[in-house]
Amino acid sequence: MTALTLKDVNKSFGEVHVLKDINMEVEEGEFVVFVGPSGCGKSTLLRVIAGLEDATSGEVRIGGEVVNMTPPSKRGIAMVFQSYALYPHLNVRGNMTLALKQEGQSKAVIEERVQKASKMLNLEAYLDRFPSELSGGQRQRVAIGRAIVREPKLFLFDEPLSNLDAALRMNTRLEIAALHRQLGATMVYVTHDQTEAMTLADKIVVLRDGRVEQIGSPMELYNNPANQFVAGFLGSPS
Ligand code: ADP
Ligand code: MG
Repeated sequence: MTALTLKDVNKSFGEVHVLKDINMEVEEGEFVVFVGPSGCGKSTLLRVIAGLEDATSGEVRIGGEVVNMTPPSKRGIAMVFQSYALYPHLNVRGNMTLALKQEGQSKAVIEERVQKASKMLNLEAYLDRFPSELSGGQRQRVAIGRAIVREPKLFLFDEPLSNLDAALRMNTRLEIAALHRQLGATMVYVTHDQTEAMTLADKIVVLRDGRVEQIGSPMELYNNPANQFVAGFLGSPS
């Protein structure tokens, strides 16, 4: 089953043409990484998938359904940003459950999902703490937990590790990879970091200046880059 399809997606802000004829598919359960230099349109693309921005033209399908007109909350997606964007006045439990309460989930369902997610993320001991009492890595885990409890069809990550120091970045990257295996979920992950792309992805989409340069597995791109840009960007000798 195809989890996500982008068909001839374009996005302009006024005169500025940011996304140019993006075509690609994500299969169910796949971990797909969009990689490219800063400013190439990665965040815009995630925001178009999430429905936080409208595509100027083209089609976004999630689970086979065209969602161009569907509001973000009805798309079955959950997004994790680079800034954790936790609510400072809510404790960890409060941050993780807010969206579920807004959805009108029952207390029992909410509790079960919080237990499950906090166990997966080693946050069981921190449920009563406030964001200011947590480390950067713990905050990012809460932000991920907040996505997990919603049981989305599709996870969207926008450079989730870029505010963490090098050691934490590696740890959290391994945790995200483990989560992908445990949940079997479909994940779309954006980064400008080649290592993250090469180590996390089933499939990499290389973006440059709003266009898809190449799509393939890490090995395909490494061994068979379509051009100098991909070769240079993914660090293989050409
Ligand atoms: P990336 O995430 O790859 O660094 P972005 O998607 O944030 O890139 O930005 C791509 C381009 O789109 C940039 O040139 C940026 O200035 C422009 N852009 C992004 N959002 C807006 C907006 N709301 N209005 C105008 N231009 C925007
Ligand atoms: Mg960005």
